Amino acid sequence: MSDKFDIAVIGSGPGGYRAAVLAALRGRKVAIIEKQDWGGCCLNRGCVPKKAWHHTAQLLAASQQFAARGIRGSLSADLDVAWDHQEQVVQTVQDSYVNYMKRLGITALTGHACLLGPHTLSVARPDASQHLESEYVILATGSAPAELPAVRPTPGRILTTDMLFDARPPEGRRVTVVGGGVIGTEFAYILTLLGCEVTWLTSGTPLAKTRFSPQALSTLQRALRHHGIAPRSGARVNAAFVDGEEVVTRLSDGTEIRSDWLLLGTGRRPYTEGLGLAQAGVLTDEHGFVVRNASLQTSAPNIYAIGDCASPQMTANQALADATLAVDNIIAGGNKTQEPAWVPEVVYSAVELARIGLDDEQAEDEGFEPAVGFAAFE
Ligand code: FAD
Repeated sequence: MSDKFDIAVIGSGPGGYRAAVLAALRGRKVAIIEKQDWGGCCLNRGCVPKKAWHHTAQLLAASQQFAARGIRGSLSADLDVAWDHQEQVVQTVQDSYVNYMKRLGITALTGHACLLGPHTLSVARPDASQHLESEYVILATGSAPAELPAVRPTPGRILTTDMLFDARPPEGRRVTVVGGGVIGTEFAYILTLLGCEVTWLTSGTPLAKTRFSPQALSTLQRALRHHGIAPRSGARVNAAFVDGEEVVTRLSDGTEIRSDWLLLGTGRRPYTEGLGLAQAGVLTDEHGFVVRNASLQTSAPNIYAIGDCASPQMTANQALADATLAVDNIIAGGNKTQEPAWVPEVVYSAVELARIGLDDEQAEDEGFEPAVGFAAFE
């Protein structure tokens, strides 16, 4: 016999967690299934541990002003201790998160969920498996690191950001950071402040694919330069491999960079492996994203998709906004849609950048007056 639920949520990252909580608060019988770590990428390998490190980096940056203020003594970073600290932070948040779901009466199941049909799921664990029936299903299975064709992640040497938070950082402080997106821009700063000697490789201008204004980006560039951090732009990585105690990164112009380890900040891909999408009639696009309409409904009308598995934006803010909309549409039976401009974008680097709403061009297109000012807090 299988258990029956109003809403079954697959994945417990920010998207899945918020969906489960909102549905339970509105009186629905909810199951949430997680195959790995409660809290998903954001809590265990993303936003939360990164922000713990970013805060440490900011404290170190502030300490550079101490002498001028009459505070004597020198401070230096210990990357291993900083790693242990982020792990404690993650554990504390995870405990309260799991506890809150329990208090709301959400059924939290550990195991790999697979759709057997639009209303039926199996949850597999090494020791057993069970079946669930659910009127609605929300897919929130997130993403996995996207790899470069000629670079094989290698524990202790060539790391994805997931691997960085799965084990203490490798020995050695010469680090190559690859990527000019948000993650590369954040880790080039964080690792430098935490005592690493960073070579930062970007193929184009950092953050070029974001919608931050030129003023915001040049403020960030200036702040990075103040800490001696500058990207090596136009650097296309052809290959990276382990050579004895070092990692060699070979660029398209033939240059070789030697470091102790390498961090790949080269993006993520939607993760839907073993999810049984075809069995439930759920389609994916050519990049692997779950296809959904503007109300976040997939090609199976009772199945919704939220967060990284369905959205190229791939931020926790997007996953949270999706969760709110999907639960609203399920419970109210409506077809509300999202206004993407109202999902915030953030960067935690040498300055913290945040933006929301229209950019200058969109505002002009919609007939608004040009922006008059820009505020930066350093
Ligand atoms: P995820 O958080 O990826 O969670 C999906 C969960 O589903 C996982 O736990 C997975 O184990 C589980 N799962 C998958 N398949 C199954 C299955 N078949 N059965 C059961 N469980 C399954 N975003 C921000 O907004 N701000 C930030 O500061 C920020 N910093 C980041 C820093 C880093 C280093 C990284 C890598 C990302 C960062 N992000 C940030 C992005 C953010 O972490 C993701 O966008 C967010 O976690 C996506 O949430 P999600 O709910 O879609 O999926």
